[in-house]
Amino acid sequence: MNTITEHRPPAAVVRRGPSRAVRQRRALAVVVGVAAIAAAGVLAVTAVQQAGSANALVQGPTAGTVPAGAEADGGTPDASDGYIADGETISLYDGAPAVSGLDPALREALLAAAAAASDDGVELRVASGWRSPRYQSWLLERAVQQYGSAEEAGRWVGTPETSLHVKGQAVDIGPFDSSDWLDRKGDAFGLCRTYENETWHFELFPEAVDQGCPQMYADAAEDPRMQR
Ligand SMILES: [Zn+2]
Repeated sequence: MNTITEHRPPAAVVRRGPSRAVRQRRALAVVVGVAAIAAAGVLAVTAVQQAGSANALVQGPTAGTVPAGAEADGGTPDASDGYIADGETISLYDGAPAVSGLDPALREALLAAAAAASDDGVELRVASGWRSPRYQSWLLERAVQQYGSAEEAGRWVGTPETSLHVKGQAVDIGPFDSSDWLDRKGDAFGLCRTYENETWHFELFPEAVDQGCPQMYADAAEDPRMQR
C-alpha cells in the first residue's frame, strides 16, 4: 500500500471562493505554518539523534547507526548483522558478529594461518564474514540492481538460503596482499579459495592439509551448493 498517496492533501484546500488577496494571505499563513512545522521537526529529529547517541553508549556501537546507502525498508543491515562497509576490513580478533559468528573450526584455522602470515609480515583481515539472512538479502538486492539480472548477480552473491557466509562457513579476506598470501599458503591450514572469480573468498577444507585444496569453481553459479 502506498501511504504517500493516502496522505496527499484533499483537493478542497484549493477550492475557489475567497478573493485573491485572501488567498494570498492564506497562502502566506500556510507557508509560515509549514516552516514552523519543519522547524519543530528539526528539533524533534535532533532530540531523537541525541537520544540515539545516549542509547549507543548503553547498547553498544551498533545502536543508532545506519550504514551509508542503507534503505529504510526494515532490512537495513548494521554491525549486529555482520555488516562491514565496502572497502573496509576488521581484525580477526574483533569481537563483532562478522567474526564471532563464523564457524569455530573455520575461525580457529584462520587464527592459525594469521599467526603464520604475521611471521611473513602480512596481516589477514576480514572484509566479510558471518552475515545475517537480512544482510544477505540486502546484498543480493543490490547485486541484482548492479548487474542488471538475478542470473548475473548469482555469479557473485548467494541467497540467504544458499550463502555460506550466512552459515558462518565462508570468509572474505582483505586487502589483496593478505588474500594472496592465504591463496598461496592456506592449504596448510585447510583454508581454500573456492571461486576463480573471487580472489578473497575462503572456506575450510580440513582434508586440504594432506591433499591440497580442491579444484575451484569458475564462479558461484557453477557451484552445486549454490543452486536455488
Ligand atoms: Zn565470500
